[in-house]
Amino acid sequence: MRKIHMVDLKGQYEHIKERVNQSVLDVIESAAFVNGPEVHQFQKELEEYLGVKHVIPCANGTDALQVAMMGLGLKPGDEVITADFTFAATVEVIALLGLTPVLVDVDPVTFNIDVDAVRRAITPKTKAIVPVHLFGLVAPMDEIMELAKEHDLYVIEDNAQAIGADYTSKDGSKRKAGGIGHVASTSFFPSKNLGCYGDGGAIFTNDDDLAHTIRGIVNHGMYVRYHHDVVGVNSRLDSIQATILRAKLPNLDQYNAARRNAARKYTEAFKGVDDIITPKGSCGSEEFICDQCDCHVFHQYTLRVLNTDRDALVQHLQGKGIPCGVYYPIPLHSQKAYKNERYNEADFTVTNQLVKEVISLPMHTELDDEQIEYITQAVIEFVS
Ligand SMILES: *Cc1c(COP(=O)(O)O)cnc(C)c1O
Repeated sequence: MRKIHMVDLKGQYEHIKERVNQSVLDVIESAAFVNGPEVHQFQKELEEYLGVKHVIPCANGTDALQVAMMGLGLKPGDEVITADFTFAATVEVIALLGLTPVLVDVDPVTFNIDVDAVRRAITPKTKAIVPVHLFGLVAPMDEIMELAKEHDLYVIEDNAQAIGADYTSKDGSKRKAGGIGHVASTSFFPSKNLGCYGDGGAIFTNDDDLAHTIRGIVNHGMYVRYHHDVVGVNSRLDSIQATILRAKLPNLDQYNAARRNAARKYTEAFKGVDDIITPKGSCGSEEFICDQCDCHVFHQYTLRVLNTDRDALVQHLQGKGIPCGVYYPIPLHSQKAYKNERYNEADFTVTNQLVKEVISLPMHTELDDEQIEYITQAVIEFVS
């Protein structure tokens, strides 16, 4: 059996090696390293793929979130509601900008932000909601957009984990994750579903004015050369990363399909094991794996294990050469940097439970049947 990796970037590279190597050499020959034609081309191609009007490339997914919030003109004292169960970047930028992060609990089935909890957290100071499409599953955007409209709030999608996922609205219309809220951010960190070979990120929006504002913010607040109208940042995607992303974008649907396929095999193997809860699609179907709606692109394949010492399971798997991850082991509201008197433990029962039960199995585009069989057997022998 081939060695099992949590993420197999080397295996994926082998299939696209020639194209990637040639395009990187071409960029070096062209000497257009920053904001060159490759960045512009990638932007256009991603706009087309996502069906959004504006993609603004930037340096990483954390900057993308920060710049999105700056572009919306959020000010110190404004409250921004986001999920307690996510990667820290989401809450970090809210705090960095002097805004007030308001963390809320998540749904135990989808792991995504709990819309009722968001509703309860809204105050006259609330200005924005940041749903995170966690582990590749699109958050309940119909409900979130409705709630936002009712209270005149912005919606910033943190799409770092769900690029390429589809969201089907109640009216049947389909849109790509990241094209639904007022603005969205994504990350091209190597291990994301569309990853470059370094750092990268982008902001998406359908709003022309906001796109203009954001293009200036990522470039030192400049709209006319050497005229700095607003305080900006320096956040750029470089041409070498852009050309790698151009080589990979045409494969994104195929990459996501390979992840879904691996997820389907995992879920089939765990069928009937009482103490394992497999991930569900947002359509809530018990049969899961939304072949119809592609609402889950499995950035992670995350189980809940019940009546089991999760940390001992991690040890057991590692002992058998199976890497795995615990995303995330500590709720954000309990992190030293983000503790706040306003939080009440009773409001975080789901997150507090999930951090003890979740385990993410190897998930990437190169998993084969033999590896999946070996991994699922090792999990089942420990759990049952
Ligand atoms: C990866 C990630 C980010 C940050 O992206 P970087 O490119 O690493 O800065 C933000 N939010 C979520 C949910 C992520 O998974």
